[in-house]
This record gives sequence, structure tokens and C-alpha cells, in this order.
Amino acid sequence: MLTSRSKALETVQSRKTVSVTPPSIRVSEYFNSNVFTDSSMMEFLSKEAYKAVSAAIKNGDKIDRSMADQVATGMKNWAISKGVSHYTHWFQPLTGATAEKHDSFFEPTEDGRAIEKFAGGALVQQEPDASSFPNGGIRNTFEARGYTAWDPSSPAFIMEGSNGKTLCIPTIFVSYTGEALDYKAPLLKALHAVEKSVVNVVNSYFDKNVTKAWASLGIEQEYFLIDEAMYIARPDLMLTGRTLIGLSPEKGQQLEDHYFGSIPPRVYDFMIDFETECYKLGIPLKTRHNEVAPSQYECAPNFEEVNLAIDHNQLLMDVMEKVAMRHKFKVLLHEKPFSGINGSGKHNNWSLITNNGTNLLAPTQNPQENLQFLSFFVNVIKAVHDHADLMRASIASAGNEHRLGANEAPPAIMSIFIGSQMTEVLESLLNNKSTKNTSKAASINVKKIPEILLDNTDRNRTSPFAFTGNKFEFRAVGSSANSANAMIVMNTIMANQLNQFKIDTDALIKKGKKKEDAILEILKGYYKASKKILFEGNGYGEEWVKEAAKRGLNNIKSTPEALNAYISKQSKELFVKNEIFNEVELNARYEIMQELYVKKIDIEAKLIAQLATSHVIPAGIAYQRNLAENVKAMKDAGLNKSDTEIQVNLIKELGGHIKKISQHVNMLLSELDKAHHLGSTYKTASAFSNKIKPLFEPIRESSDALEFLVDDELWKLPKYREMLFVK
Ligand code: ADP
Ligand code: MG
Repeated sequence: MLTSRSKALETVQSRKTVSVTPPSIRVSEYFNSNVFTDSSMMEFLSKEAYKAVSAAIKNGDKIDRSMADQVATGMKNWAISKGVSHYTHWFQPLTGATAEKHDSFFEPTEDGRAIEKFAGGALVQQEPDASSFPNGGIRNTFEARGYTAWDPSSPAFIMEGSNGKTLCIPTIFVSYTGEALDYKAPLLKALHAVEKSVVNVVNSYFDKNVTKAWASLGIEQEYFLIDEAMYIARPDLMLTGRTLIGLSPEKGQQLEDHYFGSIPPRVYDFMIDFETECYKLGIPLKTRHNEVAPSQYECAPNFEEVNLAIDHNQLLMDVMEKVAMRHKFKVLLHEKPFSGINGSGKHNNWSLITNNGTNLLAPTQNPQENLQFLSFFVNVIKAVHDHADLMRASIASAGNEHRLGANEAPPAIMSIFIGSQMTEVLESLLNNKSTKNTSKAASINVKKIPEILLDNTDRNRTSPFAFTGNKFEFRAVGSSANSANAMIVMNTIMANQLNQFKIDTDALIKKGKKKEDAILEILKGYYKASKKILFEGNGYGEEWVKEAAKRGLNNIKSTPEALNAYISKQSKELFVKNEIFNEVELNARYEIMQELYVKKIDIEAKLIAQLATSHVIPAGIAYQRNLAENVKAMKDAGLNKSDTEIQVNLIKELGGHIKKISQHVNMLLSELDKAHHLGSTYKTASAFSNKIKPLFEPIRESSDALEFLVDDELWKLPKYREMLFVK
């Protein structure tokens, strides 16, 4: 059989590295070469059109239709000069991946010839069939049609395929009646909200000259890379992105030799190739390294404005998969492809920055600026404290469920790590004390306002949400996620919190308090009210789970339950008030996420039943047969019962596991049948989480026991050690 394990091993062993030659030594020479950048706009657009697009990018001004024609023509000319034949609106529907529908520039003319055409209308708006994307009931209520609309704040780019090039135009995706059907539309709203509230707070109390602010995001991306032949030989990896069965290898990550080792040559070639493609697309990749688990890697770009950072991360995942194919690798972006081995995350490093270049989450030595820093810092803590369940919901998915609370990832409890120095600063603030000048960095020597200079080494890698010197790092985001979910929530709760901060502080000022005193008093109150979410210890430990329960912090383990926070009264108010989602959109999104969970577990359930029945049990039976033949031959040769005892016991042991698997597969199939007839999406999703998923465990246990017992020759699925260590 072509996809069998031995064939896969043979294929991997005969692999040759694919040689790569980056376009030139200096990245700066080809960085952004496939992006319609400011300088290409200047070259290809008329003065007027350039001005209009610039204003749209900088101020969010609308571009009128006649101008859109000019922009489209310029964009087309640029694209054609680069050998592009097609264009597409590039958008992020709620399926997770990005979507494209390609159209040709080519248009036949009446005289039998043809021209290349791209009108403003086609740039600004398109009408893909919305019915093929999840809409959570919006379609039933309204219309099947949907629109994609150009997002000028993220530049158009050229995607290179093996047989042609396509101009991609980043767009939002909304229903006929305007409800968001994607990630980008609400994200842009949340970013707008946070920017407005930041400017308002900064202008009111700290700096009148600031006119704009932006949220920044640097996304660290973890992933596994395994050989394509191994992938093809594992139906579970192909269909679900993770291994549903498989015995943990004797050697896992305990020696940490992968993390500290050099990057394997074949992988290195892939990385060079991948980075080259990313640079052409303007993705500012900065670091690459091995991760803790065998065959696990990470890359991270320089941080960018959130919308752009997310577009780039979505694009990066896509490029990664395409380039991997050239190198006969398969990228695994699933949060937990291998049980017993570290999973993958997507750390979201987030901050707020003003147009005069101040990072509002970076402490300085200037006390006046530090009051500003402290204000933003404490408001983040308050926002996350008040909306911890929503933060948890924003990272909830079938895949991430395996990672959170496993021994290498934070539990499903939202907590914040701020480090000993910031703890000291906040405690002193609360107690109106100045800190002892013990630590070299943190000290409070002004009566009221601390001087803070952070020692950057104070890190806690077990926290889901950690302050890392000049930014917060949301580490609990799953590796395959679109960061938009986390960023919509983060920026919305921050916008909301800053608006509240302004109201609270102004009330005190109105009562006659001096501005600084008013701010400090409010911050003190916020700190006191949200202190229980701060945790500096080991987030992976069992003690934290107990301690958190004592503190009254939620530990929501299942995805369906976690998602409920999206439609709580508090969240609905939050989103509606800040104009991020209306109730229809929120309910629809909730339905889609629950449905997605059900679909994923449903596929896993059917597949584990299938693998157990058609692979695992037959392997066990085959080995039983060999053993039975052996026993018979031994008896024929005159050996007695005590001589055949080991074989006979082994046959029984195999039989026990076969029976256990078979029973649980039957239970699984009958529960599946029931779960699909429960009516509400939440009930169905809960059944998948509470009734169906737990049945995977006994099946897997016995399957893995069989993998341990059965003759290696009879086992047809690649084993963990082969997928993870053969390079
Ligand atoms: P690590 O967390 O591994 O120590 P770094 O400090 O290099 O890594 O940062 C990780 C990511 O955080 C990078 O993508 C980096 O660009 C990003 N980052 C750094 N500063 C900021 C900031 N002010 N806002 C958002 N992201 C940032
Ligand atoms: Mg990090």
C-alpha cells in the first residue's frame, strides 16, 4: 500500500534538500517588492489619487467612486508590470482560513480583441456568494448575498503561485444588510474605538499634542514541521490536524536537545525560502528558532499596527504551507498535534503607541510620563480583570482546549503576571508608601509618582497574560487561531475601560481634586478591585488551580462553556455600547463558533472510530493470530502449558484491549447519533464536549497499549518517533 508506514519511512530517507537561492543577499533589496507600498503608489497613481489613498490610510477618509477608478487603474498597471494576470478580494471569513475568488483583468472587446481592465467598482466592492461561508443564521434572517469591501489601511499585495501571480486586495466581508461575516470588520471597529479612547485620555491628562494613537501587535508563531510522507500516512493528521492515537515516544523533549540544537539542514532551507517569500510580501520576520518539542519551531516578526499584523500573520500561515509543500514538508498549525508533547501557541504581544512615538505601556524615568504609563498599565489590569471570561472566550477553540491546562500551557484561568517590580510599585501606590531603593531598577522616589525602570529579565513563561517590560503578551492564543478574536476583545475592553477611567477621574476633578491626585486615587481603586487576577507564581502548577478557585477566578475548561461569555449580558452591553457588534452579529458569531466546535469534534469522533476499527483492531487481531499459531506449533512440538504461558497471556491481554476499544467505539457511535438530535447549538456542543470527547480517552489508551504490544511489522501507521525524529 502506497501510504503505509514503511513506504513513508523509505520516502523520507531518500529525500534530498531542495536548494534555495534567495533573490539577493540583502533583504532590503526585495523587502516589500510584492506590495503596493507608498512608493509604488507614488509611481503609479496620479497626484490626486495618491492623495486620496493616503488620506484614507491615515485618517480613514472615504474614497469616492471616480477616484476609485483612478486608484484601480494605477494598481492594475503596477500589478501588470509585475506579471500579474488576476486579482482577488482577499478576506477572512469565520471559517478560519483566508478566502479568495480570482477574476482575470482580461476582458474581451467587441472587435474580437481583448484588454486588461480593472475598474474602481471591482476594487472597492465585490459580491462573493455568502452562502458558502458561515453566517450563523444571518442568511436565514436576511439575504444570502454578501459583500467584500476594500480596506485601504492594509496594502494590496501580489501572491505568487507556481503558475501565475494574483493581485490580492484586503477586504472586509459583510452581509447584504451590513452585518459583519468576518474577522476584519469588527477588528477595525475595535481598533478605532481604542484609538479614540487613548487619544481622549492622553489629551485630557497628559499630552495635548497627541492627535493619533494605534494599537501594536507582534505575533510569535509556533508550528510543527513534519515530512509530507508521514503526514499522508496518518489520516488523523490529514483530516484533523492532530494525532488521535499514538504512543508517546520513549524519548520526547526531556533532553531539550532539539531546543538548544542547531536547525536541521532541510528545515533551514525551508526557513530561508519561507522568509524570502515573506519579505517580498512585506512581512517583517525577525527571528526564527527551534522550539521545545521535537520538530517544533517558531518565527516572529517585528510588531506592526494590529490590523496589518493580523493580515500578515494570516498571510504568513498561508505562505508557510505553500513553501513547505515545495520542501515536501507539512506544517502543523494545530495547537496540540501530538499528545504528551508541547503544543503550539501564538503569543500576541500588544501595546498602545501614540503618534509622537510614545509607547504607553513603557515605563520611563520621567515621573510625569510615568503617571501616564501607570494609568494605562492599571487600566489594562482592570479591563482584563473585569472581562476575564471574555478574554478566555476569545481564545476558545477545539484545538486550544487540548493545550490550555496541559502541562506546558497555562490553565484556562485568566491571570496576569506583572513582575516583582511592578508589584512593588502598585503596592506602594496602594499604601501611599515609597519603595525602598533596594532593587536597582524599580524605585519610587517622588512622593506620589513612581520612577520606574524595568529590568527586562523578569519573565514568567507560565502566565496566560504577562507584562514583558513594555507590552503585554497574551500567551494563551492558539497557534492556528486568527488573532483577530483575541484582539477584538482586548482592544474593545481597553477602549471601554479607558472611557470609564475618563468618567471616573473627571468626576473627582470636578469635585475639586487636583488632576494628579484624582488619577492616582482612581488607579488605586482599580488596582484594589482587580488585584485578585494578578499572579506571579507557576501558572502550570496544581496549586494555582486551587488558589485561583479560592480567589474566585473562573477556570473554564470546555470550549462550549467558555464561548458563553460572548453572549453574557455584560459582553452584549460592552460590544453594543462600543459599537463593535450588534446583538444579531454577536448571536450569529456565537452560533458559528459553537457549530465549528461541533464539526471539529464530530470529524475527530468519526475518524477515531474508523482508525480503531480498520487499523488498530486488525493489527491486534493479526498479532493474536501469529501468537496463536505459535502456541499451536509449540504444543505440536511437545511443549506444555507452562512453556506457552507468555504467548497465551499476551493473546488475552491483546483481547482485553480489543474488547475495550470495540465497546467504546460502539458507545461513541451511539452518543454521536444522540448528540446530533439535541436541538440547540449549545446543547449539542456541550454533548460533544462532555459525552463524546471523553470517549476518545479509553479508545486511545487501549490503542496505544496495542501499539506498545503488537509486533512492529504489523503496525501500519507511522509512530510518534518516526514523525518527530526522522528528518
Ligand atoms: P520574547 O517575548 O521572545 O522575549 P521579544 O521581546 O523579541 O521576544 O518580542 C516578541 C514580539 O513582541 C516581537 O514580535 C516583537 O516585535 C514584539 N514587540 C516588541 N515590542 C512591542 C510593542 N511595543 N508592541 C507590540 N509588540 C511588541
Ligand atoms: Mg514571547
